[in-house]
Amino acid sequence: MNYQHRYADGSPADLPVGKVVCVGRNYAEHAKELNNPVPTEPLLFLKPSTAIVPLAESIVLNPSRGPVHYETEIALLIGSTLSGEVNEAEATAAIAGVGLALDLTLRELQDQLKAKGHPWERAKAFDGACPLSVFIPATSAPQLDDIALQLRINGEVRQQGRSAQMITPIAILLQQISTVFTLLPGDVVITGTPAGVGILHAGDRLDLSIPGQLELSTSVQG
Ligand code: ZN
Repeated sequence: MNYQHRYADGSPADLPVGKVVCVGRNYAEHAKELNNPVPTEPLLFLKPSTAIVPLAESIVLNPSRGPVHYETEIALLIGSTLSGEVNEAEATAAIAGVGLALDLTLRELQDQLKAKGHPWERAKAFDGACPLSVFIPATSAPQLDDIALQLRINGEVRQQGRSAQMITPIAILLQQISTVFTLLPGDVVITGTPAGVGILHAGDRLDLSIPGQLELSTSVQG
């Protein structure tokens, strides 16, 4: 795998590459746009470490598997183990960095799997399904309840949101996740997407940002 967790200055994070814990429907407007009910507790799923690719590398589509949708999400790099019941301060202290991820989704396949009551992994956990950015070190990242994110495609704003709009805020998410999945150093948590998801097309240029903190670009191979 040619991926290694890195900080925004290019320096490697001294952490292995672990699993990705993903949160679904954490912004009410996004749940609404897909006609999904807003969950009463966080909807969690996993992507394996093999889904992670560097965000800066262009995205490769596989048209035989159907259209790939983008979901832009705030990503948290975990720096120390969180397991079982932890308090809010412990949860927050485990964050080594804040970055961005794309939760790539084969939406038509996901809809078919959902209709059959089958797991989503084929639609969300495939190789390359989690392009991941470099991370702002936690010491210089914005306050956890004040992180903004934006996605532009070919210059047009498609998604924007703020962590303050999350149904379950970041610290509480980590507290709830750690009671189910032990978070290990090098794991990543992606925290749900705001409204505006859609299909990626060959040749698209994507500009993702945590405004004022992190500016990233990638493209879709075509
Ligand atoms: Zn997502």
